[in-house]
Amino acid sequence: MGDLKSRVSYLKGLADGLGLDESKEKRLLSEIVKVLEEMAEAIDDLQAFSEATQEYVESIDEDLGQLEQDFYGCEDDEDEYEEDFDEEYEDDYDIDDEDLCEIECPKCHEVIFIDEDLVDNDGKTECPNCKAVINLDEADG
Ligand SMILES: [Zn+2]
Repeated sequence: MGDLKSRVSYLKGLADGLGLDESKEKRLLSEIVKVLEEMAEAIDDLQAFSEATQEYVESIDEDLGQLEQDFYGCEDDEDEYEEDFDEEYEDDYDIDDEDLCEIECPKCHEVIFIDEDLVDNDGKTECPNCKAVINLDEADG
C-alpha cells in the first residue's frame, strides 16, 4: 500500500506544480489531495492491522493444532477420531454380554461385573473388591 501513498504524493506534487493562482479550483484540488492522503494513510493502517491480525490468527491456529495433537494423541482429523473412539468404547464396555451380570455389592457398593460361570449353584459369588459373599438372588435389581 506504500504504492498508493507514493501515488498520492505524486498527485500532490503535480497539483502544486500547476502554479495555480489562489482560486476555488485550487482550493478544491488541494482539498481532494488532502482527502486522498488521509485515505491512503487510513488504508495503510488497516492493512497493517489486517496483517497483524492474520499473523495472530495463524499462531492461534498452530497452537490449537498442537493442542489437538496432544489431546487426541494422533494427527487424524477429529471426526475420524471420534468414530474410532466410539467403536473402542463399545468393545471395552459391552455390558450386554450375556455371560456377564452387573450387580452392586451390598457391602462395599462397588458395581461389579460377574461372569455367570463363577456363580455357584446357590446363586452366590464373591465380591472381587471386598471379598464379601454376595447372594445374587437378593442383590439382583
Ligand atoms: Zn464388595
